[in-house]
Order: sequence, then C-alpha cells, then structure tokens
Amino acid sequence: MLEALDGLPLDITLHKTTSGIAALLTGDKPGPTVMLRGDMDALPMPEDTGLDYASKVDNVMHACGHDTHVAMLAGAARMLSERKSSLPGRVLFMFQPGEEGYGGAEYMLDEGLLDVPPLADGTPSPISAAYAIHITSSMPAGMIGTKGGSVMASSDSFDIVITGKGGHASEPFRTFDPVPVTCEIVQAIQAMVTRRFDIFDPTVVTVTRLVAGTAYNVIPESARIQGTIRAISAKTRSSVHELIQRVADGVATAHGCNAETTVNLGYPVTVNDVPSADFGLDIAEALVGEKQVVRMPNPVMGAEDFSYVLEKLPGAMLFLGGTPHNKDPRTAAPNHSNRVMFEEDAMTTGMALYSSLALRTLGVTLD
Ligand SMILES: [Zn+2]
Ligand SMILES: [Zn+2]
Repeated sequence: MLEALDGLPLDITLHKTTSGIAALLTGDKPGPTVMLRGDMDALPMPEDTGLDYASKVDNVMHACGHDTHVAMLAGAARMLSERKSSLPGRVLFMFQPGEEGYGGAEYMLDEGLLDVPPLADGTPSPISAAYAIHITSSMPAGMIGTKGGSVMASSDSFDIVITGKGGHASEPFRTFDPVPVTCEIVQAIQAMVTRRFDIFDPTVVTVTRLVAGTAYNVIPESARIQGTIRAISAKTRSSVHELIQRVADGVATAHGCNAETTVNLGYPVTVNDVPSADFGLDIAEALVGEKQVVRMPNPVMGAEDFSYVLEKLPGAMLFLGGTPHNKDPRTAAPNHSNRVMFEEDAMTTGMALYSSLALRTLGVTLD
C-alpha cells in the first residue's frame, strides 16, 4: 500500500491500533481540509472468479471490491499531488482497514484521525467534509448513485437464550419445553416488525440461527435464537432492541420459560448530509452525464462503518457501478459473492470522482 504512495508529497501517519494509514496532502495555497476514504480489507472466503489477478491467498477474497477502493484512492492521491502547487487547502486520504464488521473507521477516529494540525502559519484548517466511494456489482460500470439522508442501514445482531426445564420427550408436561416457545418467539418477532413500525421507517429483523436439543427423545433445557437487525433511523433502531426483548420475555414467561436477550451493537445508520449528497451528485453529473447518475429513492439495507465518520463530519457516501461490461447488473454475481467481478474501467471514473469531490470542496472550479 505504502509503495503506491511512494514519492508523493504526503505526510503519512501510520496508525497504531490498526493498519490504517492517514496521508495528508497540503496544497501550496491555504484553505480547508477535505477527507477522502477508501477501505482496504478483504473477506474470509474462497475466490472462484478464475481471473488471472484472483487472490493468491487461500480463503481470502476481495469480494467487496475494497481493492478497487484502495487503487482509486491511491490514484486520486497521485492526481491531486500533481496539482499541489495550485491546491487551495488540504486533502486527507483515509486508507481504512476492517470495514467488514471490525469497525476499522471507529478505531481510526479514536486514534485522532480528524485532529489534523493547523497550517504551517498556525491557521486552523479543520476537515470540512468527508466522502467515500463504494463499488457495487449491481449497477452498470461507471454509473454513480447516492441519496441524501439515510443511505445505508444500521446493523446489529441479537441473541436470545430461552431456558425452560428439560426432560423426557414422551412427558412434556413434566418439563418446560423451550422448543415451541422458541418457534413462537420467531413468529412473534415477525408480527412485531409489521405491527409496531411505520412502514416508511422500516426495519428488517431476520432470524438466521436456531439452536436446540441433542437427541430425538430429549426435551432440552434451553434453546437459542440468533439473527440480525437492520434499520434506517436511530429511533427505529433503538425501539427494535427494546421490543425484541419485550416479545421474547413475554412469550417465554407465558409458557413458564425465561428469555435472556442480548443485542450486540454493530454499525449505526449511515446518514449522508443532504447538501453534501446533492453536491456529490452534481459533481457526478458533470463527470459522467445525467443519464449515468442515479438519485437513489431508497437506502440499501447493508451497513457501513463510514457511518461513524458521518456522525462527526458532513459528507456523503457514493456508490460506483462496477458490473463488468459483458454482464447484466440484475444477474451479475453480487458483492460478497465468490464469483463477483468488477469492471476495471469503472476505476477511472472512481478516481475522477474522488479527485473532483476534493477539488470542488476546496473551491476549485473544474471545466
Ligand atoms: Zn462488504
Ligand atoms: Zn464493502
């Protein structure tokens, strides 16, 4: 990674708690600072693309295209470095590890990523905006899309342990069987999702794992339900947490069992600042033309730890289409698939988008 930045006029900070890299480009003219983020991590899975540049490491694959993010951000760093003499301000390049569930962004923030020093003459130059790009195989290569407000969901997981009293399968009345209670809780959670939430501020609660029992003729003492919770507002997110617990407690108690609910907090909702998203979309239109830009009507229910950055700074996350030219985005292997491929051409657009976002934020007008 560092080799790609070699020779560029950047002040590089290697983060200590993670392999994160913060690289600061200081233009020769004074001005604000803008941050561009690219996440770097791969996923623990085999790669079956058959590409000649497929992963050489067993069970490690860039199935979310973060390798393209790194390449695009390093490319933008190179392009913007060439304009250093006329650049009115600074660009902070955030190369972030651990997006796929490890909260790498939060570690980098905790380590002081945003505490950029003042300019050489002592003038403060705080970060005025932050942008991220994510490639997606569900949009034709080179298209750009985003929306203001909630753009990606929060992602939390939950764990419910239902405890009853085990015994012989032929004599359930001598036990408190947690198995039917578990089934009822799964159903009650789905009823809760449809009855307790406004459909215009929705939530997805998916039970993904049930664990109970060891034999045909034994009623187990306990059972377990696990799953994921998605929401697109902080309000709905916290209500779901409360209501899952209430439903599990209520159903379990009704049948003489006990339920212990744990919610494991994941990433918060990714909320694009509305003016920043509009600004990004206008820049995208200037770059690739109106027909290639999607003003997304709805958020996507995946999650992103860029959400932590957007809790601190105005900015936006934009999606870049990466479906290979010879594939249909509706049927192409999606991000996180062992067969996903991204069109390399899209990276030129991504580099131009990163660079334009930075330049325009610093007030440079582009022809
Ligand atoms: Zn991913
Ligand atoms: Zn990703």
